[in-house]
Amino acid sequence: MMIPPDAEARRAVKPVICYPNETLPRPDMARYAAALDGAEVTARVVAPPREAGVFEVPAGQFFRIRSVQGPQVGDLNLWNARDISERFYSGKTRALHGTHVSTGERLWSSFPNLRPMATIVEDTLGWYGIDEYGGSVHDVIGTRCDPYTGNLLSGSQYHHCCHSNLTRALARHLGISAAEAEPHVHDVLNVFMCTGFTRDTGQYFMKASPVRPGDHLTFFAEINLLGALSACPGGDCSAEHSSDEAACYPLEIEILAPRPGALEGWQSPRRSGYDRSHGL
Ligand SMILES: [Zn+2]
Repeated sequence: MMIPPDAEARRAVKPVICYPNETLPRPDMARYAAALDGAEVTARVVAPPREAGVFEVPAGQFFRIRSVQGPQVGDLNLWNARDISERFYSGKTRALHGTHVSTGERLWSSFPNLRPMATIVEDTLGWYGIDEYGGSVHDVIGTRCDPYTGNLLSGSQYHHCCHSNLTRALARHLGISAAEAEPHVHDVLNVFMCTGFTRDTGQYFMKASPVRPGDHLTFFAEINLLGALSACPGGDCSAEHSSDEAACYPLEIEILAPRPGALEGWQSPRRSGYDRSHGL
């Protein structure tokens, strides 16, 4: 391979942030904190090990994903509860906020909507930061474990990957077939998962999640949400996924309603203002 004489100079060019996010509409975190303070739990849903739980959250309420019993990673899908063609857009969330998300950051929805679906208001793993391997928690860089990749790499037929867990849960909730539900399953927020890219080969890695029972991640629902959370067959994702090998624990989802009036003046965000003419 020919290395050009100015290779080092080309490598030395400083990076620029693709999407400086100072102009993003800022969530009013003080208002959300005050609303969460008096909020009451109205429902509890469990995602059993190697299965997914489905939940609905009205706009203006909260949902909290909690580790119970043992370290466990969860794969989260979100849809607009009234129109499931609007769904969580992990790639754009990554472009706007980075590879991993925490308090004050938002989960954005697919085109042509591109609006915040949920805002993270509490993260008990916020202390973790970025470790010496470049790993961090709650990523939007992975996809979701799925039976197709397992089949590609090892010829397996495994039915409890997060992709299938989410498909079954959505199919049952909506009363539709697996074939009808599957296209609505999308790239996830990897809740509690600790991941990064290796510095030498740029490969996606995982390591044992630092999550412990009691840890939680809490979201404010900016729009009416339908959610599905899969308790990943990888458990804490320290070694294996896409099999029944790992120790696997349930995850709990709580829905919390603020006191009446606690969000006085708050408005659910509108869909993108782009006119969609695309220059035609
Ligand atoms: Zn998984």
